[in-house]
Amino acid sequence: MSEDLADALDAEETTQRNGLLMIASENHVSPAVMAAQGSVLTNRNALGYPDDRLYPASQDIDTVEQLAIDYAKELWGADHVNVQPHSGSLANLAVYLAVLEPNDRILALDPIDGGHITHGDTRHISGKQHETEFYHANPETGRVDYDDLQTRAEEFDPDLIISGYSAYPREVNWERVQAAADAVDAYHLADIAHLSGLIAADQLASPVGIADFATGSTYKTIRAGRGGVILCDEMYADAIDAAVFPGSQGGAAMPMIAGKAAGFAEALTPEFDSYAEQLVTNARTLAQTLAERGIHVVSGGTDTHIVLIDLRQSHPDLTGSEAEAKLEAAGIYVTKATVPGETRPNEASGIRIGTPALTSRGFEEEEMKKVAELINHVLNDDDLENVQTEIAVLCEENPLDE
Ligand SMILES: *Cc1c(COP(=O)(O)O)cnc(C)c1O
Repeated sequence: MSEDLADALDAEETTQRNGLLMIASENHVSPAVMAAQGSVLTNRNALGYPDDRLYPASQDIDTVEQLAIDYAKELWGADHVNVQPHSGSLANLAVYLAVLEPNDRILALDPIDGGHITHGDTRHISGKQHETEFYHANPETGRVDYDDLQTRAEEFDPDLIISGYSAYPREVNWERVQAAADAVDAYHLADIAHLSGLIAADQLASPVGIADFATGSTYKTIRAGRGGVILCDEMYADAIDAAVFPGSQGGAAMPMIAGKAAGFAEALTPEFDSYAEQLVTNARTLAQTLAERGIHVVSGGTDTHIVLIDLRQSHPDLTGSEAEAKLEAAGIYVTKATVPGETRPNEASGIRIGTPALTSRGFEEEEMKKVAELINHVLNDDDLENVQTEIAVLCEENPLDE
């Protein structure tokens, strides 16, 4: 490895070890997932599916992919699973390819309210190929406005309705979205990129068996490394598989699929259930402590690993971008986020804080209270000296796995 490259990797490891990683979409995978991802599988090109490959000597590759599929079926109770999408974004694309024609209509949550760019935004191919209408979150409650969703579905007559979001702290009412989809004969895609780990561990209700499709990233709460996954009913199996390969991808990324197999196997253990429970407990503790310090928590709390802060009430002069930068300088990594009722869409009025990574390194309620105090301090004060000492202690007491 070149020295420059080795240095960059070392520096990255130091950042992860010594900082408070609170980016809601990030996590620390286990050494087993890391080993699977860095395995000999990277030397192979796996075109096709288990027992239906284009190249010889694929029996062990088939075993690896079949294990990932079987573990996923058990985790989420899905009839059919495709573990080949290189990312959650490409999992979504495959669903669009499988069931939509160009110019078909998508109804999705407005990205300003926490929706995802791959849900028909004009910056993404889904929005270039399809016509999109957005439903909204209620600015008062911070929750998805299902009446708005239903009204827009009746008026817009979409071919596909998307639920599941990127910066949304609350449980999603999958049945309610499904009822709206049924009423207009639309497909329903539940994008559980953020929620897949919490759903696998029964911390949240599952859309599997309700929505037509569920898609996800595999590196977020499910802790299985980079990649994507699609869950669906058997009746969509052929269309989905063809949309992934050869519809939108070439050879399967086997090291990533091995990572998924390793991570999914871990997610089937009772230890993972405890992890998922702690994730939510930690987020609730964080939300409550911040609220006690006068910081506005969107929707008044959380059901997930996400805490969404609206800074306009407590820190009217601080934008989300500025808050993100202040916290970054202190070694606390969060992301700016727009909030329901947003008035500054470019700089954003909020920050999104997530607990997956810190929970993976052992943080519990006591530590989360301290973290909340540190966040509050940094937002109010420019003196970082004590903050940095306290972060160093927290990180030392809760080391990452070697
Ligand atoms: C993270 C995310 C995705 C996909 O992200 P990838 O980086 O492409 O895996 C898709 N949808 C939602 C709602 C997300 O939060």
